[in-house]
Amino acid sequence: MGQSKSSQSNQARFRLLGRGRLQSYNSIMPISSVNPATQEALKTFAALTAEQLDEKLSRALKAFLDHRRTTFNERASMMQAAAEILESEKRDFARLMTLEMGKPLNAAVQEAEKCALVCRYYAENAERQLADEVVETNATKSFVRFQPLGVVLAVMPWNFPFWQVFRFAAPALMAGNAGLLKHASNVPQCALAIEEIFQRAGFAEGAFQTLLVGSDAVQTVLEDKRVAAATLTGSEPAGRSVASIAGKQIRKTVLELGGSDPFIVMPSADFEQAVTTAVKARTINNGQSCIAAKRFIVHENIYGEFEKRFVEVIKALRVGDPVEASTDIGPLATDQILKDLEDQVTVSVAAGAKLLTGGRRCELEGELARGNFYEPTVLADIPREAPAYADEIFGPVASLFRVANIDEAIALANATTFGLGAAAWTNDAAERDRFINEIEAGSVFINGMVASDPRLPFGGVKNSGYGRELSYFGIREFVNIKTVWIK
Ligand code: NAP
Repeated sequence: MGQSKSSQSNQARFRLLGRGRLQSYNSIMPISSVNPATQEALKTFAALTAEQLDEKLSRALKAFLDHRRTTFNERASMMQAAAEILESEKRDFARLMTLEMGKPLNAAVQEAEKCALVCRYYAENAERQLADEVVETNATKSFVRFQPLGVVLAVMPWNFPFWQVFRFAAPALMAGNAGLLKHASNVPQCALAIEEIFQRAGFAEGAFQTLLVGSDAVQTVLEDKRVAAATLTGSEPAGRSVASIAGKQIRKTVLELGGSDPFIVMPSADFEQAVTTAVKARTINNGQSCIAAKRFIVHENIYGEFEKRFVEVIKALRVGDPVEASTDIGPLATDQILKDLEDQVTVSVAAGAKLLTGGRRCELEGELARGNFYEPTVLADIPREAPAYADEIFGPVASLFRVANIDEAIALANATTFGLGAAAWTNDAAERDRFINEIEAGSVFINGMVASDPRLPFGGVKNSGYGRELSYFGIREFVNIKTVWIK
């Protein structure tokens, strides 16, 4: 995908005057919620005024100064309350996600449940994960203490509109930080719902706030002295921009960016399981997942059969209304994503890639006729210069590759600027070890599909970003690792 969206069109203008107070800002661009299945305008919000934004930053700082003094027990009971709200109202939250960004409703329910899980995980584990670590030295006592950094800005994407936010917010709040959410401009209702969950759960006013602003407000917020650090999950250009602004201010950042994950299948693998998992791994979330498998690298001994079965399973998927339980693939989240995807496929085919199925918009009927639907697509014989060879494709489009041996498989897997996740299917122990050791990615899954889990660290290498979310690695990103030495 690679293009940041509404930042160019948002006319919001900020000016930072004096010593870190926002004094001038006017926005004429509203933030809109549009159902991508029908193009129905759901709700429009005015972006924050300069005064409102300034107030929110002050409130965040004030809340942080109180919140950091709360005990782990107090934070944990609020975090458990957030989990309960998520669980008991998961269907309402799921409907909101589906209406705003088009993911199938069942998947949205699972997303709300997973958010509850991450809240509970950190409610139960944060105290242990951030406990003082005693280190023997020449001092009477020396130890490491983990203290919150302050107000953390989270710039988040629309594709998992709840999960991306909760996997940042649960550890950040449990560590004693305050959070400011600048969510993607197409999911404002999700953003407001998340703010409300934390308020209802009992967190202090200002401990977690949503900023309804466009992406061109990010610079001003990041330059403000009340903000200590930032995390961004999104595209590479957005990551570069946030990292460079933060770099000038010497602010800690975590970046979770795009990916073009390989999915390797060797002859010893369980073939049928590999095929069905491969299709799921490509089409999950309508194909719009950073850790979706995007490049399928198959040994030549099984390639022919794999291609045939893969295309069969892809063709059997049902594209349609994401609210219907029978739907496998809903619409792409915005018009722009649909256009970008179409371009990538067209250019790849023009460059010589073979189109095995799909390759065009879906013609659906009734109120879905204007939705952003795209046929599940499979490309093969892809030349090196085609976008489908190594770029990130954010939609239901699979790239198939044939390789002669494991050396070629690993070389092709690594032939991308990204390094987020990777899956490799083999029952040969020596092959397994080579994949684990030699694939350049933040995670390698053997005989399974890449997925996030609160207990395991999540993040990338190369242009997929830096830093980690989840597990104890995630909660230690936004803390001051303070050395204490007592004579
Ligand atoms: P995006 O266009 O980069 O937007 C992500 C967020 O960044 C939005 O809140 C967006 O605000 C903001 N933004 C965009 N340009 C910016 C800029 N120049 N400066 C500051 N903020 C900016 O990405 P997306 O289309 O929403 O999401 C898809 C991308 O996210 C894919 O590349 C995907 O792989 C990646 N992703 C990565 C992970 C991971 O964990 N590694 C997870 C999910 C998604 P506006 O909406 O207002 O423009």
